[in-house]
Formats: sequence, C-alpha cells, structure tokens
Amino acid sequence: MTANPSLEELPLRPELKGEEPYGAPQLDVPVRLNVNENPYPPSPALIDDIAAAIRDAAAGMNRYPERDALALRRDLAAFLGHGLTAENIWAANGSNEVMTHVLGAFGGPGRSALTFAPSYSMYPEYARNTHTEWLTVPRKADFSLDVDLALRSMAELRPDVVLVASPNNPTGTKATLDQLRALCAAAPGVIVIDEAYAEFARPGTPSALELLPAFPRLAVSRTMSKAFAFAGGRLGYLAAAPAFVDALRIVRLPYHLSAVTQAVARVALAHAPEMLKQVDALRDERDSLQDWLSGTGLRVPPSDANFILFGRFTDRHRVFERLLDRGVLIRETGPAGWLRVSVGTPEENAAFRDALTEILPDSE
Ligand code: PMP
Repeated sequence: MTANPSLEELPLRPELKGEEPYGAPQLDVPVRLNVNENPYPPSPALIDDIAAAIRDAAAGMNRYPERDALALRRDLAAFLGHGLTAENIWAANGSNEVMTHVLGAFGGPGRSALTFAPSYSMYPEYARNTHTEWLTVPRKADFSLDVDLALRSMAELRPDVVLVASPNNPTGTKATLDQLRALCAAAPGVIVIDEAYAEFARPGTPSALELLPAFPRLAVSRTMSKAFAFAGGRLGYLAAAPAFVDALRIVRLPYHLSAVTQAVARVALAHAPEMLKQVDALRDERDSLQDWLSGTGLRVPPSDANFILFGRFTDRHRVFERLLDRGVLIRETGPAGWLRVSVGTPEENAAFRDALTEILPDSE
C-alpha cells in the first residue's frame, strides 16, 4: 500500500488546480458519433499487413527507434506531394503532440498564441501546458473567419503563434485560400493552419499547402486520425520549411515515435488509396445528414469536415442525454446551445436521425 493523498494535498502547479483531464466520454454504446472518428475499420488484408509490420518491429524492440523517423517522414512527404521532402515534414503521436511541439518551440512564458473562436477545444490546453498566454478573437455569427478583425487583432496583440483550423472544429466551416493568405501575410510570428479534416472538404477546395512556398513561417498540420481511419495508430504530422521542423526537433522528447508507430504508419501510408477509400462516401453521407438536419428547421453551418454542428437548443444537455438513452453518443461541445455529431456509417446516421426525430418535437 502507498500513501493516498488527495490531489489538493499535492503541490500541483497553481494553474492546473481544479482542471480536469481532457477527453470526451468513451462509452460502450451502439452508435458512437462523438469524436470525429472514421467509422470504417481496416480490411482483413490490411490488418494482416499491420500485424506483420508489428512483428518485424518486435524483432528489434531491444533498440531505441530511429529518432528522426526519416523513412516515415519521407513517405509522408511523398503522400502530400507539392514538392515536399522529408526535411519539410514533422511527425508525432497525433497532431495534438505536433501542436504541443509548435507551442513548445515558438510559444512559452512571455509569449502568446491566438485563435479564432469557437475552435478546437484542445488549443487552450496546449497553451496552458507550455505556459503560453492564450488569446482568442471571435468568428462571425455564421462561424466564418472575420478577416478584418483578425488582421486588426494580430497587429494589436502581436501573437507569437496563430492557430487556424480549416475546416474548423467544432463548426465544420472552412476558410478560403485568400483568407488564409491574408492571415499568413499578417501573422507577426508563426502560423499553423490545422487541416485535420482537409480530406473531407468539398472537391476543388485548395489546401493551404499551396501557400508554403510564399510563407516561411507557415506550417500546415494534418493527421492520419480522421480521413485515414487511423485514430488508434496516433500519427499526426505537419509540413513547413526545414528550419521550422528543426525548431520542433529541439523540443521533442527523444524517441517520441515508437518503432511500432513508425512501422504501422508506413504500412497505412503504403495502403493510402484503401485507407482513404471511404472518404467520398463519408462526404456524401455528411451532405445528406446536413440536408436532413436543415430540413428539421435546425441551424446547421455548412460543414467541410466529417462532423456537423447543429442547434440551437435551450437545453442541449437534455438533447444529448436523450440521444444517449437511445444508444446514440454525440458531443456536447462548441458554443452554448449547439451540439456536434460525427458522420458515421449509413446505419449509424440512420440511428441518429431516428433518435433525434423522436426527441425533437419537445427539445426546442
Ligand atoms: N486538430 C483538430 C482541429 C482536431 O479536431 C483534432 C482531433 N479532434 C486534432 C487536431 C487532433 O487529432 P490527432 O491528435 O488525433 O491527430
């Protein structure tokens, strides 16, 4: 038996007092549409290839993994195209860790990071953990970027790091390339465009990767968690100038990417067409679910991601609970009165529609 102090009795950093660990509920219910996962598991053939790669990695497990993950970064560069090479790519355990590296290198005490609210709820946590001051500027009422306000705020607040998610979580709305270009031109420090959901954007949507040649302090972040159906593999990455990547290498822990992660991510990349094959279907499902939600009279910002924000409810918690009672788990996130649902399989989406149809009449 060890001593068993309460958290209050431990000398926790003052700013962490009363904080809860981040994370949506992981509940074992029939329909889980709460964390923007890809609902399609890997095929049996892909599972075999992943297992074989883990077996090979196991044979060298007495050694530390390749610290710079160069082979994986080469594969990621080839996957992204745009003339990028391994030196332009950084990878870590999810884009959450990539972003922590960015704030570790470019934020810190006496420095600040700015985003456009509402946005991804982990951003303030990266800032807190790296002692970076956290600043937000509101989006417009339709959740699009207010570029004029953004430019004025950047000039006034001089943030060291600007974080822009496009498509944005939890609103699903995307910025235009011209808007992003204007932000890049005005950002006084580094700017990260978080494209975690880029693959779900409507066809023809340009990627911010196109802006990399013009802006040396820009990084474009991606993840294999969503479109790649690889959330459990934990692999996020970004593309930037080699010097930007060198800055991140200073703050990473040595051997941060395990041999298993590197090997498995390379297998997933080698199977990119298969891993990404359901994206088109998910996009179609997203569009029809969005149309259906609008048809019920709810407000639904246009989504370019694999989730949809909808509202507004006077008591969103009640709607969340009543969906959960019917076996459908969604997310209580975003501004007051709104809820977010991830796009699932056609069957899961139908279950969500059925459950919501039952409870909508008295949920306004
Ligand atoms: N950015 C955004 C906008 C997200 O929504 C998420 C996941 N919810 C992430 C980054 C992090 O993804 P991961 O760590 O799984 O790569």
